[in-house]
Amino acid sequence: MKGVVFLGNRKLELQDFADPVPGPGEVVVAMKASGMCGSDLHVYRAVGSQNALGFTVSAPAVAGHEPCGVVAEVGPGVNPRLPQVGARVMVHHYFGCGVCPHCRTGWTQMCVEGAAVYGVTHHGGHAPYMKVPASTLIPLPDELSFETGAAIACGTGTAYGALRRMHLSGHDTIAIVGQGPVGLSATQFAVAMGARVLALDLSSERLLLAKRFGADITIDARGYDPLTAVKDVTSGRGADLTLDTSGRPEGRILAVRAARAWGTVCFVGEGSNVTIDVSPDMLRKQLTIIASWTFSTVGQAECAQFVAARKIAVADLFTHSWRLEQAEEAYQLFDTQTTGKGVFLM
Ligand SMILES: [Zn+2]
Ligand SMILES: [Zn+2]
Repeated sequence: MKGVVFLGNRKLELQDFADPVPGPGEVVVAMKASGMCGSDLHVYRAVGSQNALGFTVSAPAVAGHEPCGVVAEVGPGVNPRLPQVGARVMVHHYFGCGVCPHCRTGWTQMCVEGAAVYGVTHHGGHAPYMKVPASTLIPLPDELSFETGAAIACGTGTAYGALRRMHLSGHDTIAIVGQGPVGLSATQFAVAMGARVLALDLSSERLLLAKRFGADITIDARGYDPLTAVKDVTSGRGADLTLDTSGRPEGRILAVRAARAWGTVCFVGEGSNVTIDVSPDMLRKQLTIIASWTFSTVGQAECAQFVAARKIAVADLFTHSWRLEQAEEAYQLFDTQTTGKGVFLM
């Protein structure tokens, strides 16, 4: 089979790999949808073949960490209560030792022995087949499409996890900085959870999507000072909750400064940094700053159930669908960070 491999310096290629065969406890999933996530851009743009997300990579791995498909083959010794051949599934895109406290609570990405990250350190979903331990499978509810499952497998699940960490409720006004795939998902969820949503971005195309997804107010951060804009629509106080999905220093400090006194800020974007002037920005506002890294196996399943029960239009995030042979064009466009989400369909 052929799979997409990032070479660094914004280059990628389709490389040949042997068709995977499941070993003990493993399954092979026939991919139906494999999403493109903002964090893929860190690896795509990395200088040389250096991995930009800080994980150790021993051999070129098939990209794609939003895998969703159908179980095609089950290896020996797989618990019969786990998904069997023909089951529609998402993959929780990490695997750990299975024994440490993080693994036992479903947070395998935090494994004390170091985690496998599918699509980064181990073969991911940008190929016709993917071999994973059966314990990584999360059932895809019948109501959800494979594209929706792919989104939940990273970007959309990350947005959901962050809002749950912040205990968002219908009382809150939340400012969401960045309306890429994660920010747009956060907008959809926050609207469904009853909050008042202020959506900020630098792209008018993305702000239009945010408006369509129910954002109460959209703020174009290229024009009018975005901090003033948030203050203007919150009686000068700032938002109860702010979420930065941009992962950029300017986005993060805006999220910090746009939060009201006693408010909560959450960071989800990978990489880069931020400089916070602790006394005025945090201490004198009694501010809580948290960071949220994806979700557990249990959280991924909970997100899928929420999407199904509330009929969240996750598939509307996708503005582009591609074949694997179009991967070069697909990532060139995604790299502009002006579009909605892209997905490979098999
Ligand atoms: Zn572990
Ligand atoms: Zn991701």
